[in-house]
Amino acid sequence: MKIGVLAVQGDFIEHIEALRRLKAEAIPVRLPADLQGLDGLIIPGGESTTIRRLGQEYGVLPAIRDLRQKGAAMLGTCAGMIILARKATQLENGSLGIIDVEVRRNAFGRQLESFEVDLPIAVLGGTPFHAVFIRAPRIDKVGPGVEVLATLPGGEPVAARQGKVMVASFHPELTPDLRLHEYFLRLAATSQ
Ligand code: GLN
Repeated sequence: MKIGVLAVQGDFIEHIEALRRLKAEAIPVRLPADLQGLDGLIIPGGESTTIRRLGQEYGVLPAIRDLRQKGAAMLGTCAGMIILARKATQLENGSLGIIDVEVRRNAFGRQLESFEVDLPIAVLGGTPFHAVFIRAPRIDKVGPGVEVLATLPGGEPVAARQGKVMVASFHPELTPDLRLHEYFLRLAATSQ
């Protein structure tokens, strides 16, 4: 399994390490040519406005759309989710529209800017997943083809999947639990 991690800004190193611990081939992606032959791509957390701007400058963001059309799996965490969304607030030049969710940047308010919570995530098995939120976006709407994978205790969606595309408003790369990356690798191995 060959997985790229968009490495223009943000915590891409942590994603690469998680993938390598799972024995996947993980490569940093900066230019369109780096996308050759990938089974999947992760867009990390960071600053979505910067990822958007640099990704456009390097020409890699438009090429990510083509990679998805060829059937590669995609995972966006936090800022990465903002980039993959159909619609995102306050993101100059817009998001890529690769998953049918609408997200709102920095929307948890000052009190809740950063928080951690143990979330039950059925597709990852019985043990709750320790989820770290850092100036996270909120998911305001999910389209009809989108499965919600995790919610906060109040019922608000924080992880979702549409076919081979997954997003999470938290940071699975910042905790030692590899189950979410493992689930993503299984998705990348399917042939939809
Ligand atoms: N607040 C950031 C943004 O809007 C996302 C934060 C993160 O990725 N941890 O881009």
